[in-house]
Amino acid sequence: MTLGIIGGGQLGRMLIYRTKKLGIRFAVLDADAGAPAASLADIFIRGGLKDGSSLERLVGSCDVATYEIEHIDIESLASLAAAGNTIRPSPATLRVIQDKLLQKDLYRRKGIPSTDFFTDDDPARADFSGRTFPLVQKARREGYDGRGVRVLKSPDDPKMPVPSIFEPLVDIDKELGVMVARGLDGSLAVYPVVEMAFNPDHNICDTVVAPARIDGETARRAREIAVRAVEALGGIGIFGIELFLDRRGEVLLNEAAPRPHNSGHYTMEACVTCQFEQHVRAVAGLPLGETRLFSPAVMLNLLGEPGSSGEPRIDGYAEALAVPGASLHLYGKTEVRPFRKMGHITILGGTVEEAVLKSERVRSILKIRGKR
Ligand code: ADP
Repeated sequence: MTLGIIGGGQLGRMLIYRTKKLGIRFAVLDADAGAPAASLADIFIRGGLKDGSSLERLVGSCDVATYEIEHIDIESLASLAAAGNTIRPSPATLRVIQDKLLQKDLYRRKGIPSTDFFTDDDPARADFSGRTFPLVQKARREGYDGRGVRVLKSPDDPKMPVPSIFEPLVDIDKELGVMVARGLDGSLAVYPVVEMAFNPDHNICDTVVAPARIDGETARRAREIAVRAVEALGGIGIFGIELFLDRRGEVLLNEAAPRPHNSGHYTMEACVTCQFEQHVRAVAGLPLGETRLFSPAVMLNLLGEPGSSGEPRIDGYAEALAVPGASLHLYGKTEVRPFRKMGHITILGGTVEEAVLKSERVRSILKIRGKR
């Protein structure tokens, strides 16, 4: 079987190296011939993800096409699917996820607990009278790693000039994540709930703790909401579900990603079946694998240090590898930029506390800077 991957980033790279063992060939589409997954692909197609003819070439060169990023021309994808090509998750699912308004509206209609929201296509002229601040403005489209999200403290704060949704600012206790895979036959594989911690200077996830330090009932609710979201989306494949646990103990759905997710990287070392293999099994119509957690784990994203640029230089490489239970993944990016995701490291521990302690040590020794 040849699996096509739209997008050649780190998720595509890990998808290939974790599932090559299943005897699959890979075709990858990316605009950049130096993209992380390019050198691992059996077939590399250079082209943009918004370009219909490039998408057609990718889809034409594989049996099943999937994607590792959401920002793809949806009309081209929908016509390729209508013409009989197999694309999973379906373009219909991706269309909803690409637009935060459609996504939130679906959850509201299905009664899935999620943050309240209203929408305005022209935020500069919107009438905020009667609204309670702070509000979180979110661009309907093209958001990523917190770009496209802005907190408004008052009606006069400057707004992003793009069609948006607005949500009340949730008083967050913890941000939670759940990976859920759904097979062609509707079968489900649900991973443990994890905690995601964000870099305070930049809205980017930098630490994931598995399992989350929450009570059993909260974990049960998070997993139930995650499954309902994937079912509502008609998802086939693996989904990264992001949730908030607020200070009143309520679990709220934030958003879904229709692909392997940063919050699921820990599954590579800590679970029976990793998120990448699970995705391939699901989109290829194969039975799903076991999700059992072998060991508590902490995953640290290795982000480019502030002020860094140029060819990457890794400080603390050998010292980090010497930490028992540490497993390093570098994405092969040839240029470092501040906060760019350059790799990650997962540290297993006998207990969550032990894994957290070891990860703090790794965090202090492992740095990625630019040579310039
Ligand atoms: P993106 O699509 O860019 O990842 P998200 O909707 O996940 O955008 O928002 C990014 C981050 O912003 C979240 O992880 C969370 O920390 C914060 N955030 C988003 N919505 C809210 C909200 N309603 N209340 C409080 N914080 C929020």
